[in-house]
Amino acid sequence: MSAQDSAYAPQWRDYRARRFWFFAVWLGGFLGLEVVTFGVLPLMPKAMADAIWVAVGVAWLLGWGAMAIRWQRFPCPRCDRPFLLLRPFSRECGYCGLARYE
Ligand SMILES: [Zn+2]
Repeated sequence: MSAQDSAYAPQWRDYRARRFWFFAVWLGGFLGLEVVTFGVLPLMPKAMADAIWVAVGVAWLLGWGAMAIRWQRFPCPRCDRPFLLLRPFSRECGYCGLARYE
């Protein structure tokens, strides 16, 4: 059964979106920080550049943490309990046994 045929297709789309944003913020943050570090900060006074670098880094970590929590708190489409909580690589719900994309 494909994900499109599932009775829970909208919920699995939400799951994939949460997973996408986790990786997008994580990996995109590297790129964004590199652009800021090597493209923008050399043009500024050192004291200001350090503060901006720290602010961008903290914002990235907070955003990544928020996306991680959002992904981990994805509710199981069947039993509504956290599907992945404390089991980030699980392929099935730890409470009701629903397989991912089933
Ligand atoms: Zn469940």
